[in-house]
Amino acid sequence: MEARQDQSATQVKPGRLAASATLGMLNEKYYQDLANAKSDGRPVVWVTSMAPVEMVYAFDGVPFFPENYAALCSSRKIASELCEAGVARGYSQDLCSYALCTFGVMFENRGALDDEAPPAPDILLATEGACATHPKWWEAIQRFYNCPLFIIDTAYTVDSATLSDHQKSYYAAQVEEFAYFMENHTGKSFNMDRLRDVVSLSDQASELWDVIDDLRKAIPTPISQIDVFTCLFPLVTLKGTKEALDFYKELSDEVKERVANGVGFVPNERFRLIWDLFPIYHNMRLLNYFAEFGAAFVTDLYGNAFSGRLDASDPFGSLTERYLSFFMRAGSWGKAEIYKQRAREYHVDGIVLHSNRCCRYYTAEQTDIGNILKEELGLPALMFEANMVDPRGYDDAQVKARIDSFIEMLESRKYPKQQGGH
Ligand code: SF4
Repeated sequence: MEARQDQSATQVKPGRLAASATLGMLNEKYYQDLANAKSDGRPVVWVTSMAPVEMVYAFDGVPFFPENYAALCSSRKIASELCEAGVARGYSQDLCSYALCTFGVMFENRGALDDEAPPAPDILLATEGACATHPKWWEAIQRFYNCPLFIIDTAYTVDSATLSDHQKSYYAAQVEEFAYFMENHTGKSFNMDRLRDVVSLSDQASELWDVIDDLRKAIPTPISQIDVFTCLFPLVTLKGTKEALDFYKELSDEVKERVANGVGFVPNERFRLIWDLFPIYHNMRLLNYFAEFGAAFVTDLYGNAFSGRLDASDPFGSLTERYLSFFMRAGSWGKAEIYKQRAREYHVDGIVLHSNRCCRYYTAEQTDIGNILKEELGLPALMFEANMVDPRGYDDAQVKARIDSFIEMLESRKYPKQQGGH
């Protein structure tokens, strides 16, 4: 295939962000803080995504996200054995591999950093705000560690415009109750001023993330999808800290500068794509395979899932609005609407859908999303299967052959006159 031969010869080496060095230090410091938490008198709180992590920082706790940690195990190539340890204890191998890998970490009492397991939880905080798997998964963690568990019962809501008063008051009451729960189990007093500070820091970090997301509209797009996924770490784990805010200031300045100077991460950008949805942690380099053809991912929804504006003058109210307004629950038609708008604003040529084998929750709708975008915008779609955490069963050669064909088709649509002419 002409396009593949010509572009792969370019051997793209996307420029590394200078902010990556800061990110590395943040990562290191976070895991050091986590390791020292108990001796420092800080509660370790294992939290699900879409739980109000700001409440943990308000109590000077250290949040630990098993999902994030499973991703780390995957990138360190130990996820398969950890998932297998979960299966050996009777859990289904078809379970979400974030959960399965966490069970392996618990049962084997080891982990991704120097083979050490993360510290056991003092408190567990769960919500089904992102996925119904979470509360059941957290109940299993509770049984294992025998520690207090707080579950926030979350209505199935999508955006702030459609929230009812009783949904808001019910959620806000539970967040307040969690403050009492933390007081009871940690011996620390709740301080509203401290929560306001945390909420303000979280809001400012989200604002900067939204700026970066907007800058991806530039042609050429300034940062890679790998950068987007890796730079999410502070927005997930350190949301509500000054370190996270400082990092996003540095990152957004760097991305702005790239845009001002017309610097793209792919030289001679030729195709602009949407990535849906989860990263493939054991093979992030696959994203750069697209870059070899001049194809850049310019938008995704996963990256925005962790950003959300807050109001420090109304901490409980704004945490409620933010965590009840989760666009990822919008369903296929709702998500397709978001992508349709983004396809126009980000000048998109196609969509790539990673059908994440272990995630029933967000893969069921992907075929519909691809079909809607194809029917209504004529946008070509490529869908392939992988497991986000566990590399077993993933066929790199087969996936790359599918990508080759997809790029060839994009080529014939966008540059018909150049077909065979390189
Ligand atoms: S949304 Fe999918 S990947 Fe996330 S916890 Fe639920 S099943 Fe796992």
